Amino acid sequence: MAAVYAQPMVPYAHGPSAHHASSSSHASRRDRGYRVCDQCSRPETPSAARFRLCGGCMTTQYCSQDCQKNHWPAHKPICQHTQGALKSQASAAPSPSENVAKNLRKFTSAHEALLTWAGFQALQLKRMPSNIRHKALLIQLSSRPHAESHRRLRMSSARIVSRDYVNDPLVQADIQRRDERCRREGGIGAAVVILEADGVSQVMPVEVDSPADIAWDARDDWQGVLYHFIDIGRTDFAQVLAAGMLGRG
Ligand SMILES: [Zn+2]
Ligand SMILES: [Zn+2]
Repeated sequence: MAAVYAQPMVPYAHGPSAHHASSSSHASRRDRGYRVCDQCSRPETPSAARFRLCGGCMTTQYCSQDCQKNHWPAHKPICQHTQGALKSQASAAPSPSENVAKNLRKFTSAHEALLTWAGFQALQLKRMPSNIRHKALLIQLSSRPHAESHRRLRMSSARIVSRDYVNDPLVQADIQRRDERCRREGGIGAAVVILEADGVSQVMPVEVDSPADIAWDARDDWQGVLYHFIDIGRTDFAQVLAAGMLGRG
């Protein structure tokens, strides 16, 4: 199965305040996910201009044109690999409306915050940060007819698999690059969330800060929460979490 990369997320910012994590006044700021520039690791902030996505793979993101240019030599192999996988998935679809790869991409982008949170909970990273090194979250989805593209997939199952489940060497290498970068900056590495729908798969790496910096409570009911938000198609999970509106399961 060809694996395609999703837009990677970082659940917690690497901003200057990250080093003062013990002070609770900063906790709410870290409650939402941030994207970081793939070249310089600068976090995207609401005040700055939105990051640019690589137009080839629609996966890596940059804070500036310079960063995109500087990253290209290192990024080129995985970029072309992802483009190839996207094209073959698109041409295998019987009609544009049944393009599962496209729906999966829209789904992942609409549910980014939810998937990031679910990966963090499923791997029990708050209690067992070392799980990040050998476990991954596999979410299996199936198609359903719906007017909104991000609701054309429903969750069939979600379970923990070995990280070796991702067996594409180029994707593995890129996850390892994110692991190393994240650890250099004091994080625990890249959590791997794998999405599968009708023979199409997508890998979403989530770079995770040190558990001491993480404000999220550990939740054992993540599967129910995940199922519920996907089913009703709510895409404001980041706000729900930040407002403390996620009731106890
Ligand atoms: Zn940058
Ligand atoms: Zn690219």
